[in-house]
Amino acid sequence: TGLWNRVNEALFAGGDFRVHRVALGNQSLVVAIRGKWSFTDEEAIAQIQKILEVEREFWHDHDFPYYLVTLKPYGVRSGSSDGSAFTNAFWLYLGGDSFSYDVQYLLAHEGFHAWNPHRMGVMKELGVSEKWFAEGFTVYYADVLLLRAGLLSLPEYVERVNRRIRDYESSPVKNLTNKEIVARIVALWLDAQIREQSKNKLSLDAVMLTLARQGTENPLVELSSERVLRVAGKYLNRTSRKTLLRLVEEGASVPIPDFPKNPCIRLATEELPLFDLGFDGDVLRSKKLVAGVREDSEAFKAGVRDGQEVLGVSVNWGDVSKPVRLTVRAVSGQLRIEYFPKGKTVSVPQYRTDEEAWTLTPERCTFQFN
Ligand SMILES: [Zn+2]
Repeated sequence: TGLWNRVNEALFAGGDFRVHRVALGNQSLVVAIRGKWSFTDEEAIAQIQKILEVEREFWHDHDFPYYLVTLKPYGVRSGSSDGSAFTNAFWLYLGGDSFSYDVQYLLAHEGFHAWNPHRMGVMKELGVSEKWFAEGFTVYYADVLLLRAGLLSLPEYVERVNRRIRDYESSPVKNLTNKEIVARIVALWLDAQIREQSKNKLSLDAVMLTLARQGTENPLVELSSERVLRVAGKYLNRTSRKTLLRLVEEGASVPIPDFPKNPCIRLATEELPLFDLGFDGDVLRSKKLVAGVREDSEAFKAGVRDGQEVLGVSVNWGDVSKPVRLTVRAVSGQLRIEYFPKGKTVSVPQYRTDEEAWTLTPERCTFQFN
């Protein structure tokens, strides 16, 4: 049951950590840091405090008897980061050197999991059917909260959302296996619907807060798709309720909404190349091998061939502006290959910031929450 889950998921850190106990509201936050960084422990703690405070304010919930954040470096400086959320705690493995957007995002994301799903009840099949909501809506809100905390500017936020829309548009499967990528866009759509239908008096926040309140009142209530849809449905008209059901249950394609109530941002359609690795990404990750190269791809043109053993790889997944770099073992010896992973060009909805308005009258462009 849920209560046992919480015990099992408690995070314990031991060993060579510098342990800091600081205030968070009127409660305490413990930050355990290991390794050398380009930022001081104090700088890291200040960032962590700021992000966690924004989250607690969002949830109107300061009821954490303790909270532990653990920071430790990967063995290899790979530049990537990863985190895992536990009950009242999470740890961050960092590969980079600075408190970049990626790190702030991880903090906001992992912090959000303390409520979604951990304070929303029990998930019956953890990691299977309900993951779309727990994961996708957390991805959406991590950026929203960084914007509200002032850690992302509005144009930066818009660019993050645009990238998620591009990820969605270039994802070959728009249901089931890719439910998380779809769910982020469902969250965007749902937020816009609720704002529009309530004349901007309410937002998706209301749905999230209701789910967390129910989970606090009854920790054994099940967090199911059905319950999420029921709560969300209260804030939607009949047509939108039906649409939401089709988006979640049938994987219907999500209409990208107008940006909620902001005179400085408009929705436009752009012709953009989709991200296309050109060969099988799963085999690359699992076996360090090239397989399934398509002859019409940039990868093929650059010399990537089936059967090559991959000795080194650098891919910015979803980003066509950064080259893919491969070192492979081929028949002729070791080869370095570089290409831009551009696939076919498609029409993609993207938000555009009115640069002039943003520069001259930024106060008019402030994101309106409710
Ligand atoms: Zn997550």
